[in-house]
Amino acid sequence: MLAMRHKARVSRRYRLGHKMQVLNRVLYSKLRRHFGGVRVSCAGEAMICRATRSLEGDPRLTVFHAGEYYQICCPYCDDTRFRLYINHRFGTKDVRGRPLTFLAICYNESCMSKRENLYDFLERLDELSLTEANVSRGKIVPEEAREVLPPGPCVSLTDLPAKHPAIAYLRSRRFDIAELGTKHLVSYCFDSRYTLAKNRLIIPVYEKGKLKGWQARYPGELDWKGPKKKELPPKYFSCPGSHFRSRCIYGFETMPEWETGILVEGPTDRWRFGSMAGSIFGNSVTAWQMRKFLAVFSKRTGVLLLDPEEMESKKTIETLDLFRKKMPGQFCGVVLPEDTDPGGLDRDFVKEYVRQHASRQGVRVRYRKIGKE
Ligand SMILES: [Zn+2]
Repeated sequence: MLAMRHKARVSRRYRLGHKMQVLNRVLYSKLRRHFGGVRVSCAGEAMICRATRSLEGDPRLTVFHAGEYYQICCPYCDDTRFRLYINHRFGTKDVRGRPLTFLAICYNESCMSKRENLYDFLERLDELSLTEANVSRGKIVPEEAREVLPPGPCVSLTDLPAKHPAIAYLRSRRFDIAELGTKHLVSYCFDSRYTLAKNRLIIPVYEKGKLKGWQARYPGELDWKGPKKKELPPKYFSCPGSHFRSRCIYGFETMPEWETGILVEGPTDRWRFGSMAGSIFGNSVTAWQMRKFLAVFSKRTGVLLLDPEEMESKKTIETLDLFRKKMPGQFCGVVLPEDTDPGGLDRDFVKEYVRQHASRQGVRVRYRKIGKE
């Protein structure tokens, strides 16, 4: 099965065949002995984590950066692409003395979520020796260089059967499945340690080729703004331990090609609008997002596209004021017509609507790539 794109940084030293300096020599040696080829990724990088609680209140470890891990071909499925990821802390004890067994994930077929496989794996590696392994801490990677892992094994939208409920939902909203799967790398997660990532659409957020976070979206529409909203599962579940919602603009990799940058609220608004649009994960912009946007668009034009009810909010008004001050005459807010959101409208209609409404405010919107006539 195809999983979400994840660029593992395979150590150069590994490829050169030199004796590896690894953080967990015991685990690494055992993996080599029992399973042959081992790839080392994020070599020498420390795990950055914090003890937290799950939604159900159980103690758990929130991992901000997984650090060094070892990849082998999963012995429990037909994997040939080194898709069983074993973190260097696998089998060691957490602060409560319990072994960290969730740190091995088969991204091919989720084999480690089957108890019998996990127990067999632990037995083969001699569990006790893992808990006693002397693990080097490793180097702390700065926030901008950190990368998250996908929530679990995922299948690309283009590989889901046409009758799958997630596909039916996206089609009902008139999204182009091929575009979502190949251009936006949207996938469907079929197993995860996070209950709210499992059986949901996974929207990966990349920056400079690194996976900075992901959002797991409920694959359907519920009345999230209605009176029973508290009883409903959340529309989005965001990757724990990552600050991507405040630091990234979803889709910023393609926005700089365009003369006008369109800021939208949610990721599906970007899918609808196209590659000149980027989502700020809400209705207000953070200082990080602002800096990013201005670095590219301060001499061009920009629009903040909003749902009707957001226009009145204090945060939105402040955000718009800030942009107008930084880009006088070149930035404005456009509110969508009542009872609509950009995700529910036709692409050509929204684009034309934005162009006209920006023009009325003296801002020239051009859907044209830089340097092209
Ligand atoms: Zn497997």
